[in-house]
Amino acid sequence: MSQKFIPLSVPNLKGRELEYVTEAIETEWVSTGGRFVDEFEQNIASYVKVKGAVSCQNGTAGLHVALQVCGISMGDEVIVPTMTFVAAVNPVRYLGAEPIFLDCDDSLCLDVEKLRTFCLEECEVVEDKLINKKTKKQIKAVVAVHVFGNMCDMEKLVEIADQFYLKIIEDATEALGTFYTEGTLKGKYAGTIGTAGVYSFNGNKIITTGGGGMIVSNDEQFLKRAKHLTTQAKSDEIYYTHDEVGYNYRMTNLQAAMGLAQLEQLEDFIETKKINYLFYKRELDAVDGLSLLEFRKNIRSNYWFYALFVDNPYPLNRDDLIKHLGERKIQLRPIWDLISYQKPYYMNQTYRIEKAKTYLRHVVNIPCSSNLSKEDVQHVINCLKASGV
Ligand SMILES: *Cc1c(COP(=O)(O)O)cnc(C)c1O
Repeated sequence: MSQKFIPLSVPNLKGRELEYVTEAIETEWVSTGGRFVDEFEQNIASYVKVKGAVSCQNGTAGLHVALQVCGISMGDEVIVPTMTFVAAVNPVRYLGAEPIFLDCDDSLCLDVEKLRTFCLEECEVVEDKLINKKTKKQIKAVVAVHVFGNMCDMEKLVEIADQFYLKIIEDATEALGTFYTEGTLKGKYAGTIGTAGVYSFNGNKIITTGGGGMIVSNDEQFLKRAKHLTTQAKSDEIYYTHDEVGYNYRMTNLQAAMGLAQLEQLEDFIETKKINYLFYKRELDAVDGLSLLEFRKNIRSNYWFYALFVDNPYPLNRDDLIKHLGERKIQLRPIWDLISYQKPYYMNQTYRIEKAKTYLRHVVNIPCSSNLSKEDVQHVINCLKASGV
């Protein structure tokens, strides 16, 4: 019998998706009006315990708008991690601003201690503004990416951002459902700690609407402006008066119908992902040269992606392992190439990028879909073990 293909991360649509989407189609509310869009916004907001949410076409659009509402514009600078998906950085450029790249720590998220020394050594505070000594430009914000469902060290980041007049935009596209279980931020969800947070409902994320995103915030004014920008900046609905350049970024009722059904299952997905993570971890940590990276201790992670660190004495290097398991119909994916190495950004300023270079060479993501059976996980483990002997 031939082994079935085990993909890295695929949607799990076994809830009420078809029922809700059918309702949207039968009632002919398929565009940006309709009950599901508002309901999905409200349900996301109440799930992560924030004042409100603004739906978007995707997470990238959400980040674009969130940065703009934060006041990022032409000539500004924004601190970003180099170890991330490019969509966390591109919106900075959409606005005519420039990213400055920082390292990651062992959580794979932004190294906040290096952020602190960067601000102390490379910048100066002038009239409540953080000024980059090198370029004389103002650094207005930091994009905190919660990589793979982990949490950036938000306790320290909030303190540093306060000290240096930085706004925090949380790229929580991978971390819907992650929250602090201890400490000063106990009970706070990823995405709800900074000025604004953004979720993504792309096909590979923990819940999906095919494509979609959501901006969340506790600041009513922020939410109002975000909604305004995502809906063509109409100041008068009837006469089509526009008071600024807006975007057609609002989610459709079809997407939201799916999202609503997906959100009903989110806690179940997290439970399954946690069980599979712990199973992988117990088995793979016992293999010489393999270790599954951990999530921060003081959080309940959403366990979105599993990051396997491959090193000596494991006999295959990371890239050979990917090839080897690919031949066995198991999809592995290397962690993203550093954004500061990429063609659009290699000229940008970087600061002490060290750890990211190591993780770049050694980390691979292994299958993590919430519909993986225990047998599927066992099969992946067996193949990883067999490749190691
Ligand atoms: C998925 C993702 C995004 C973008 O979300 P889309 O909905 O695909 O536009 C941004 N940042 C990170 C880190 C992501 O993983």
